[in-house]
Amino acid sequence: MEKPNTKNPHCSDIDEEPDENDDKPNVLNDTLFPKEKDIETSSNCSTEEPEQSQESWKSKTGSRPSKKTISLTSYPRIPAGGYMIFQHQKVTVSQTCNLDCLLQTLLYLYKCDTESANYINQHDALQTNNITNLVKIFKETGNSSWAQVHYYSIHKILKLSPTATERNLDLYGSEERFLSTIAELIPISQLLDCPNRKCKLPTKNPLFPMRDVIINNPSNITDILHVDTKIITCPSCNCKEAERKYSWTDNGPTPFFIFPVAHGNAVPATESTLPSTFNVLGENYTLFAYTLNLGDHYIAVVQHNKKYYTYNDMVPDTLQIRNNRNSSHKSSCVFLIKKM
Ligand SMILES: [Zn+2]
Repeated sequence: MEKPNTKNPHCSDIDEEPDENDDKPNVLNDTLFPKEKDIETSSNCSTEEPEQSQESWKSKTGSRPSKKTISLTSYPRIPAGGYMIFQHQKVTVSQTCNLDCLLQTLLYLYKCDTESANYINQHDALQTNNITNLVKIFKETGNSSWAQVHYYSIHKILKLSPTATERNLDLYGSEERFLSTIAELIPISQLLDCPNRKCKLPTKNPLFPMRDVIINNPSNITDILHVDTKIITCPSCNCKEAERKYSWTDNGPTPFFIFPVAHGNAVPATESTLPSTFNVLGENYTLFAYTLNLGDHYIAVVQHNKKYYTYNDMVPDTLQIRNNRNSSHKSSCVFLIKKM
């Protein structure tokens, strides 16, 4: 099952800042995770650490947390493979690495970046089905309910239902499908204008980059989602003087930005060619994480505390420091967080 897109996640560490005005713990501090015990200021995380650290972030609109940072290894790990219970039957799930990488990276984003977590929680509060299920996964992951994690990710989000006789689900290459189910998290606008007064060209189209935008080379994202007006052939009346540009929606830029990398005939975008900083619709973002397609396997790379870590299945010792990111593996999905 060949998948056209490769993806990479990266993480950068986020600092923590107490909120002077609000004593109420935010949603990150849910009951499934113990209270914060150990907060690292500098970590040597090449080996597994006890998973007992817990952040006690409090929300503070408009600023990212500062100073204190949590060890990445203190967060729970998404299970690789295993099974899910569907209609009282045990169904084995295999080749989940692709899906695991995305879920794990989103979990790190949720745990590491308060702004992103608050944003996701706002969608959860709206009872947006897929996002609500995503947040359930974040919570179940801390609870070691792997079968439940699989149930929510595979059945509730990917909408896959094994048949009565199916005892195994192969999830390889689920990335595109998964990203399209949560695409609503990142909305932008495509603005069009046609000088032909009889033309029925819509002037504003909602776009969801996780689902709708094809990016072969992450370095080109600023040009692809251009904020300056470009003259194009009108897609409605075929005149040569239509105009196109892109913008954020009225709600403004999102605290994180995710896009899949499409690999066609062009020279593949690799880990080594992935920039560290991006300009997306006039806003500056930094690389947080990415997934890599190794051919028959996916891994994720996450930046945290100025170090890069490799997530390679859930084997506890495989969250390892990545000494460089110069590999020729194809990038598959890119995760950015907004610079404040
Ligand atoms: Zn037109």
